[in-house]
Amino acid sequence: MEFRDLKAQYNELKGEIDEAISDVLTEGNFIMGHQVIELERELADYVGVKHCITCANGTDALEMALMAWGIKEGDAVFVPDFTFFSSGEVVPLVGATPVFVDVYDDTFNINVENLEKEIERVIFEGVLRPRVIVAVDLFGQPADHKKIREIAEKYQLLVLEDSAQGFGGSIEGKKACGFGDIGTTSFFPAKPLGCYGDGGAVFTNDDEWAGTLRSIRIHGKGTGKYDNVRIGRNSRLDTIQAAILLVKLKNFKKVELDRVNRVAEFYSKELQEYVKVPYIKPGFYSSWAQYTIKLSNRRERDSLKNYLKDKGIPSMVYYPKPMHLQEAFSGIVTKKTEEGVLCDLVLSLPIHPYLKEGEMWYVVNSIKNFLNDHL
Ligand SMILES: *Cc1c(COP(=O)(O)O)cnc(C)c1O
Repeated sequence: MEFRDLKAQYNELKGEIDEAISDVLTEGNFIMGHQVIELERELADYVGVKHCITCANGTDALEMALMAWGIKEGDAVFVPDFTFFSSGEVVPLVGATPVFVDVYDDTFNINVENLEKEIERVIFEGVLRPRVIVAVDLFGQPADHKKIREIAEKYQLLVLEDSAQGFGGSIEGKKACGFGDIGTTSFFPAKPLGCYGDGGAVFTNDDEWAGTLRSIRIHGKGTGKYDNVRIGRNSRLDTIQAAILLVKLKNFKKVELDRVNRVAEFYSKELQEYVKVPYIKPGFYSSWAQYTIKLSNRRERDSLKNYLKDKGIPSMVYYPKPMHLQEAFSGIVTKKTEEGVLCDLVLSLPIHPYLKEGEMWYVVNSIKNFLNDHL
């Protein structure tokens, strides 16, 4: 069994994908070909924002957003303590300081009460200037963007929505990637919408920021290719990846998002009496980058993981370590939070749109058997 079955997806789309790749090879425009422009228009339409700027990966997308806003040394950027490393990594890359914030242990997303407390603390200490909230849509469920927006307005902060895992999710019909002042996503193969390599995108309604981002991704270009008006990056999405994504996006909208939600529904219905299943807030819709259960303690979690492994079922611990304990941040971070506890309990199960019914039953029955034996 695969944790995320990319081969099954390829088999379903093989004809169209092979043709799309072969068209790029024939046309020979490997950098910024017409497929890149088409994809940006389709992604912007889907999310419901004015501009989409594709780039080389989801980490660059975050960094480019901070660059476009001029975030720099002396600025505080608030980041959830429980997320993938990139969400915080980009902050010191532009010279600013990450301030880690607790998450809710039911949605795994940023805790807005704790966020406000941390903002107040930074203001009180008077060393750093609060500038940005990184709102991560973790595991596919959008963060509580309404409350985050209220706090951002109260303290005049910018919201950077890290929707690397959230593409396709929504709140009352409004799509993820469109909640932040700038939203970003990743097309890493295992993300909800993945390509066949690295890729990413930035979304915004702001014309000026969009212009700056387009310049940053090509060496800070001005009006011409060899006119450079700022220090930028080389961070473009390859035409081949764009061509693949055009095929995959169509299928994502048509069947995949719906299918993956049906897998999650099945898991939750079957497992809710045995383990803590993911909590999706009313009105929220997840794109299920991960389906993450919680066990009662670390020993139980680790032995279930081993038990599943023996049965041929892959599972993953996202994430084993809170951000503030990462060695890379030692010396930058002083704040201690409690997220270590959550890291001991979580276990992510195989989930993707191509999971077969027999596989789903095998996963839930194996978990039930394990817990019946261990209670
Ligand atoms: C995957 C991921 C990223 C980074 O995306 P890459 O394309 O791998 O650079 C950033 N944030 C979160 C939450 C992610 O899961």
